[in-house]
Amino acid sequence: MNKSPDAHRMEKIVSLCKRRGFIFQSSEIYGGLNGCWDYGPLGVELKRNLKNYWWRVMVHERDDVVGMDGSILMNRAVWKASGHEDTFTDPMVDCRSCKARLRADQLVEKKGINQCPNCGGKDLTAPRAFNLMFKTFVGATEDESSVTYLRPETAQSIFVQFKNVLEVSRKKLPFGVAQIGKAFRNEINPRNFTFRSREFEQMELEYFCRAEEGMRWLDYWKEERLKFYENIGIARDNLHALTVPDEERAFYSKGTYDIEYDFPFGRQELEGVAYRTDYDLSQHQKASGKSLEYFDEETKQRFIPHVVEPSAGVDRTVLALICEAYSEDEAPDEKGKMETRIVLRFHPRIAPIKCAVFPLLKNKEPLVAKAKEIVALLRPHMYVFYDEVGAIGRRYRRQDEIGTPFGVTVDQLRICRAFWFRASLNGSGAVSRILLEQSRSYGKHAIWRRCSRLQSCRQNLRASRAR
Ligand code: ATP
Repeated sequence: MNKSPDAHRMEKIVSLCKRRGFIFQSSEIYGGLNGCWDYGPLGVELKRNLKNYWWRVMVHERDDVVGMDGSILMNRAVWKASGHEDTFTDPMVDCRSCKARLRADQLVEKKGINQCPNCGGKDLTAPRAFNLMFKTFVGATEDESSVTYLRPETAQSIFVQFKNVLEVSRKKLPFGVAQIGKAFRNEINPRNFTFRSREFEQMELEYFCRAEEGMRWLDYWKEERLKFYENIGIARDNLHALTVPDEERAFYSKGTYDIEYDFPFGRQELEGVAYRTDYDLSQHQKASGKSLEYFDEETKQRFIPHVVEPSAGVDRTVLALICEAYSEDEAPDEKGKMETRIVLRFHPRIAPIKCAVFPLLKNKEPLVAKAKEIVALLRPHMYVFYDEVGAIGRRYRRQDEIGTPFGVTVDQLRICRAFWFRASLNGSGAVSRILLEQSRSYGKHAIWRRCSRLQSCRQNLRASRAR
């Protein structure tokens, strides 16, 4: 059977991720562990840049949000009160023909009859609830009294620490608490590379507000989050804000949007933005017997705040960034023969390596010395890669393939005055010559400014071409 172009594209992305050190299978030398992944040298940079930018936008650039970092293991009572112990389940079905274990919503329906998506078999068990939480034991005895779970979401530690955070931060409504951290779900059928994993990271904000303002903040956060994705280089056309219909929303939610992305394997959720009412705080107040109320000094009223939650997946966003950046173009090889090459077009903000520095020739000492000087100049401001090995075209190619947006080539002996400034942002991978010494405004931080501001970078490139 021929593979669809999208399946083929996804295969190439997975293979690039391994070949260039973005993502590896966890425990690979032992045959892997389904649903678990390791990030290699470039993947970890990409992931870090994403998390840092999220934190910057969601916490540092706002007066109304503070952060926290909760533990992964929590008292079992948390999961009872939140409803996870009883209801955090997916309906599971077994295929008796090929023995596949499937989520009921992954079955294929043909002529009104459910079939196994793997073998087409129709001999399926009735759906039964499967709890997605990983169970574990705390302490030396393995009995009911020591049971707890790896957290399936980061949000609950924010709810149970609500009072402490409120007291120390002295925030007034509306305000938010943000957290980035690991979450674990024993997914019935992990698939689509890192998209559905069993261990993953979330970036969550719980934004507390008054009941009457909940719907307004829901819309506000949906728009903010869409902007965020655009600001890391995901085209608006590939993003979709789906209004989750009433019958599919959690019973306590008054409104939910799913922000979806057009992955090569279909349109899928990147982030949920949910107005969760006062459900979570009320549940924990009831179960713990501790007040989680907010005291309004102006009206002298006590009440449980409502909450809007934008909850994004780090790994899904990393995957979306790689899918979005992936492109192929045709370029002549060293013998002039046209060949297809991969270019990752990352936004400079999230690119793993910001700038590559090359002396044109490694046996020309002054070029090497100048290149190293440039590396030292840039290093305090960004992640820089120095490369002197091989033909310059091949060195450029290697950087294109990992999405390095800027490069500096020291290419002549007037080294103090001139070097190549190269950017593959404009789509063609064209080399733009900028004489940095021409203008004193190109100070120490000039290249960094370019890297952090795509817009001004584009203008600079245009200006340099016009010169
Ligand atoms: P799905 O319907 O795809 O299982 P969900 O609606 O259960 O996702 P939420 O509980 O809203 O997801 O979690 C918030 C975010 O956490 C998701 O939008 C996603 O980005 C991320 N996430 C959830 N489950 C996984 C997973 N198994 N692997 C990777 N990321 C996940």
